[in-house]
Amino acid sequence: MESQIIIDFVAKYFYWAFLGWIFMTLIQRRHGSKGVKKRMAVLYQAILIFLIMVYATILKMNDLTDVYLIVAAIIAVLILFFGRKFILPYSTRCRVCGKRMSFERIFYYDDPLCSEHDEEEIEMNEEVKKKIKEIREEENNSDKE
Ligand SMILES: [Zn+2]
Repeated sequence: MESQIIIDFVAKYFYWAFLGWIFMTLIQRRHGSKGVKKRMAVLYQAILIFLIMVYATILKMNDLTDVYLIVAAIIAVLILFFGRKFILPYSTRCRVCGKRMSFERIFYYDDPLCSEHDEEEIEMNEEVKKKIKEIREEENNSDKE
């Protein structure tokens, strides 16, 4: 472990990973209030990636070897373990029926519910359907006149 191969890798590619993670939080914004916790989680992950990158860069500047990265790896694992509720709040199955959820549901929605058991979502969809129906009816009426 007298090399700097991993340090170089981390210093270089974790920067791009960090940018990618930040970009993900922007994509998640379209899920609005249904995915606040999931968005915060990705932000925490981004901060962790950023800190590891900064640490690797400091090691590189001081000509230290890969061995020192083990410290960062251990701390990162500890942070992930104790902060898993906030940093990794993902469950793959629906809380009500236990069915496997879609990728979108796992990563974008705070509540671990499938589309059949997400009452809020069902209500929202009904409203949208009602609105569409209303607009169509109005259109039909104005056509007749
Ligand atoms: Zn369900």
